[in-house]
Amino acid sequence: MIRANENYQKLKASYLFSDIARRVDQFQKKNPDTRVIRLGIGDVTRALPPAVIDAFHRGVDDMANDVTFRGYGPEQGYAFLRDKIAAHDYQARGAEVSADEIFVSDGAKCDTGNFQELFASDIRIAIPDPVYPVYLDTNVMAGRTGELVDGRYENIVYLDCVKENRFLPQLPKTPVDLIYLCFPNNPTGTCATKQDLAQWVEYARENQALILYDAAYEAFIRNPSLPRSIYEIKGAREVAVEFRSFSKTAGFTGTRCGFTVVPRDCSIFLSNGDAVSLHGLWNRRQSTKFNGVSYPVQRAAEAVYSPEGQAQISELTAGYLDNADIIGKTMANLGFDYVGGDNSPYIWVDGQGRDSWEFFDLLLQNAGVVCTPGGGFGRCGNPYIRISAFNSRDNVVDAMERLKEALK
Ligand SMILES: *Cc1c(COP(=O)(O)O)cnc(C)c1O
Repeated sequence: MIRANENYQKLKASYLFSDIARRVDQFQKKNPDTRVIRLGIGDVTRALPPAVIDAFHRGVDDMANDVTFRGYGPEQGYAFLRDKIAAHDYQARGAEVSADEIFVSDGAKCDTGNFQELFASDIRIAIPDPVYPVYLDTNVMAGRTGELVDGRYENIVYLDCVKENRFLPQLPKTPVDLIYLCFPNNPTGTCATKQDLAQWVEYARENQALILYDAAYEAFIRNPSLPRSIYEIKGAREVAVEFRSFSKTAGFTGTRCGFTVVPRDCSIFLSNGDAVSLHGLWNRRQSTKFNGVSYPVQRAAEAVYSPEGQAQISELTAGYLDNADIIGKTMANLGFDYVGGDNSPYIWVDGQGRDSWEFFDLLLQNAGVVCTPGGGFGRCGNPYIRISAFNSRDNVVDAMERLKEALK
């Protein structure tokens, strides 16, 4: 008889997206003539840019010829891609990151989920609430939490992100070893300033803690004073790992490519106090359990950094940002408080006392518009909904016209 990993039994059954689907189904059956508009999903809707597609095709053609064919590639990613990431995303912005500190992967979900493997099982972890669920659930699976009590796992330090702190996590009152941060944030759409991040870097340096920084939405930042990378903050190289993805940046959600930066200056510690290189550990983990991203996909990702690719992804993200602006303005005109929507594709709307499912139902029943109830991202998400800008302009405009009618 094989015993199960019972940590999986602790996981809160994630009914969020199936609950949404069920309610939408029921609505559609009752209202067969209404075209439901989905502003709930965190997936992009526009095609890969032409420069990316051209490079993708050329990559496939390389595989058709014995001379240019590639078999197993480096587990860390091809140099042609890592060099461009280091030069463009970091060195050009004054952040000291070298190509050999970059690990190309099949996306930020896997990396943010897998990274916790490198840490002891009794470390103290701080996680924002509301949050992208991967950080929390992967630590539950690994046995780092206790049971779920009143919607919260024991042994996790939750960082409440509420109106009073502008939805920004505040330094924990009890000491922690590992901190998950995500900016621009999913689900709230908020951004951290350099001062906000500097405070976390200082905390981590003083407490020998480590920051896992998810910058999946970095490409939506337009305000030049906002940091795009945590390595724009002095001292971060010793205390932060950064996750990035081509998913939201360039439409790679179905194509799969991202990367993680593990600076050579980061150390974690053995029980005897000896330091071990985090870079070395992640390299060992990846070369043991991962065999690299497919060659044509890495060629496609490389094309994001060409001048045409840069212009095209800037237009792509600008289209979503314009949607976000339309959504934000509509909600404000209807008298709702919200954050996000600039430098971010998500709008986080205050339900003004409504439970987040009640607010969700109001939009669905009265307007045929689907959003995401904030409670699905954590206890602090409850009076809010997340509206996503990932849709066509026409659908966003239609949805807002309906909300103006339904909520006036
Ligand atoms: C979409 C998203 C990612 C990207 O995941 P991929 O696996 O690269 O597609 C990472 N973090 C957050 C918070 C996200 O919303």
